[in-house]
Amino acid sequence: MKRHNFSAGPCVLPQEVLAKSAQAVLDFDNGLSLVEISHRSKAFVDVMEHARALALELLGLEGMGYKALFLQGGASTQFLAVALNLLEKRAAYLNTGTWSDKAIKEAQIFDDVTEVASSKDANYNYIPKGYDIPSDHDYFHCTSNNTIFGTQIKDFPECDIPMVCDMSSDIFSRTIDFSKFDLIYAGAQKNMGPAGTTLVVVREDVLGKVSRKIPSMMDYKVHISKGSMFNTPPVFPVYTSMLNLEWLKNKGGIAAIEKENEKKAQLIYSEIDLNPLFDGFAAKADRSTMNATFTLANDDLKDSFDSMCLEAGINGLNGHRSVGGYRASMYNALTLESVQVLVEIMSELERKA
Ligand SMILES: *Cc1c(COP(=O)(O)O)cnc(C)c1O
Repeated sequence: MKRHNFSAGPCVLPQEVLAKSAQAVLDFDNGLSLVEISHRSKAFVDVMEHARALALELLGLEGMGYKALFLQGGASTQFLAVALNLLEKRAAYLNTGTWSDKAIKEAQIFDDVTEVASSKDANYNYIPKGYDIPSDHDYFHCTSNNTIFGTQIKDFPECDIPMVCDMSSDIFSRTIDFSKFDLIYAGAQKNMGPAGTTLVVVREDVLGKVSRKIPSMMDYKVHISKGSMFNTPPVFPVYTSMLNLEWLKNKGGIAAIEKENEKKAQLIYSEIDLNPLFDGFAAKADRSTMNATFTLANDDLKDSFDSMCLEAGINGLNGHRSVGGYRASMYNALTLESVQVLVEIMSELERKA
């Protein structure tokens, strides 16, 4: 049976990408597996270089002083690495959810941080606006898409200090002027590839300004100087991410996938708004095109809705425990057809109720 994978992460990936990476595990280079060849072999160095170049190309950041790295330790390690590399006196953070909050906690290891605004007062169901970013701080950090709560920053603030963004769950999903940012990071497993690698895109000229000693594995300059191969890189997730970025490029890049993502989001949100059995969680103006969060108006219908979803092959629709209800994650590789299947079940539930 065809499964419709709405999982929030690890994410759905295109079948053709999975088929190629599965093949590479068996035979990548003259009878040797991708996972048993040297990461210093030409075959793999080419993969790493191509993946790094593709990331910059798709983001429109080639030749602009940026470097792309494929690191380990997840986005969670970047919460700490950002502070280690950029925080000298004080940093400014926007708190829009669990992941922002975790990033703030890591920065607080070094000193108190300025929280410029927070939507915690409403269980993070909206994006704060109209806040000031102090110009005497080292950097401003925000989270572009709040995977758990289903909110997304639509307009990024003007900022005269370096801007850092956790784009784990919407990178490569929509056109943004990425050159507004000095450092972008994203765990691969939301919209880029399998778990195990984290993309970091950094403008080199923001580095080297802090007075502390930075442990080698946490030092972006060390990783840049070693071509993202300071230690053994996670070859499988890097290779699969590269294939997925190639897939995206062949589709027409971010501008093309953005149109599909908007169609998918419009379809689900219009059903949520028209169907009296469902309530949207996030404020309408801030709704994420990646993760749609919603609840059942009447919990008595939960069992029938869940079993209809199961029967249709829908996977990963449960909401995060801090929101409850449901979350439909519609990353790049999820098809419009999968969203149509879900919406059809939602309206069938209404007809039966
Ligand atoms: C999932 C997620 C993280 C954590 O990523 P890991 O790679 O598991 O550390 C951080 N930020 C956002 C926005 C996420 O969605």
